[in-house]
Amino acid sequence: MRRQRQAKIVATLGPASASRQMIQALFEAGADVFRFNFSHGTHADHQARYQIVREVEREVGRPIAVLADLQGPKLRIGQFADGKVTLLQGQTFTLDRDATPGDGSRVCLPHPELFEAIAAGQSLLLDDGKLRLQVEYSDGARIRTRVVNAGVLSDRKGVNVPDAVLPIPALTEKDRRDLAFALDMGADWIALSFVQRPEDVFEARGLIGNRAAVLSKLEKPAALDRLDEIVQASDAIMVARGDLGVELPPERVPGTQKRILRTCRQHGKPIVIATQMLESMITAPVPTRAEVSDVASAIYDGSDAVMLSAESANGSYPLQAVTMMDRVIAEVERDPLYRNMIDAQHEVPQPNRSDAICSALRDVAGIVGATTTVTYTSSGHTSLRAARERPMAPILSITPQLATARRLALVWGVHSTISDQIHNESEMVSAACQTALKEGFAKKGDQIAITAGMPFGQPGSTNLLRLAEVWG
Ligand code: PGA
Ligand code: MN
Repeated sequence: MRRQRQAKIVATLGPASASRQMIQALFEAGADVFRFNFSHGTHADHQARYQIVREVEREVGRPIAVLADLQGPKLRIGQFADGKVTLLQGQTFTLDRDATPGDGSRVCLPHPELFEAIAAGQSLLLDDGKLRLQVEYSDGARIRTRVVNAGVLSDRKGVNVPDAVLPIPALTEKDRRDLAFALDMGADWIALSFVQRPEDVFEARGLIGNRAAVLSKLEKPAALDRLDEIVQASDAIMVARGDLGVELPPERVPGTQKRILRTCRQHGKPIVIATQMLESMITAPVPTRAEVSDVASAIYDGSDAVMLSAESANGSYPLQAVTMMDRVIAEVERDPLYRNMIDAQHEVPQPNRSDAICSALRDVAGIVGATTTVTYTSSGHTSLRAARERPMAPILSITPQLATARRLALVWGVHSTISDQIHNESEMVSAACQTALKEGFAKKGDQIAITAGMPFGQPGSTNLLRLAEVWG
């Protein structure tokens, strides 16, 4: 089964997409990666959906990636005696460490670290940025603020602190439990929320080892100050525009998205554009023109993947949302302007053997009009570097590792297949030709361009480029 597009779709699973029938339909409509959101649902919910994804994977015969998204240090206020209060513009409001239910003048903020980190003049944003409080004074026990944007505040609403680098751990106790569970379950990717520094990524990787790949969600302005290092430390990046758009003024999100995208493309790290892409499809079977344009722009800019959140997890039209994304991506990729834009941003190869080979792969495939490029890989590295080249012909990736094949489902242009270890060059050519035929990437007489590493099966040995004519 072959997709007729290069960019990928990530679909979040939730109550609207928990059945076997729906998950299979979402895959068939175009979902390449399923996101499990650990901010919601029980471990039993996730386990049941995971089982279904693997059943579907067996049935369709295509590797599917599971992305486990950890909630991260999401800050919340405590509770009110009456469940909610109305804050008026200009009034003072205090956050303190007293667990007594709050009222119109104060509420508990059960995050002691925050009291030291915050300074007068900085802002606290509440309830997805709907309310804004300006800090006038903070002494380690209370933060006194003035209400700038008024509104109703209810129990346990989220708190964003855009101006400060918070001395909070990247992984909470809940995250650690969820992480252990997700790894045991068999997640291919772990998403880290609210990454602020490269050290956050190193810490998580220390726990994850090579059991899963690590995706950093960029949703804190502080992360942008160390963008290059965070991208290098991560296996992939998500532009998490929900929280990012609360922490930054909304008009700064598009430029930031493009800057993150450019950095990821330079380093050859897969990038996912996420949140509110087809938001109106939560309740309507068709998107707005602006939403379609947003998805299309992300593809024209060279993103690896676009993501659905509530549209596929909670909405009334999960299948229509995936179908719409699939159609938008395919249409963009048929536009000659898309190819122009991708080629205009072609990244210079870095001085290493895999980039030398993958750059040559792109060139020779273009010159001979190869219908596919074939990458033999064990860790996935060669296929990633080939994807960084954004070749015209699709990338047929062959690996003996199931885990690698699944991870690569997130990556632009890569169609992953699993096959036995090859031992010599003639096996390499014949397996490449057979796979290309079987998967619908070539027909008899077509040219294909193949990369591999000799000695075969040794990771990091990419050193071979071979042209072949497909026989059948
Ligand atoms: P979330 O992340 O849905 O876990 O908050 C995405 C975002 O913030 O955009
Ligand atoms: Mn978020």
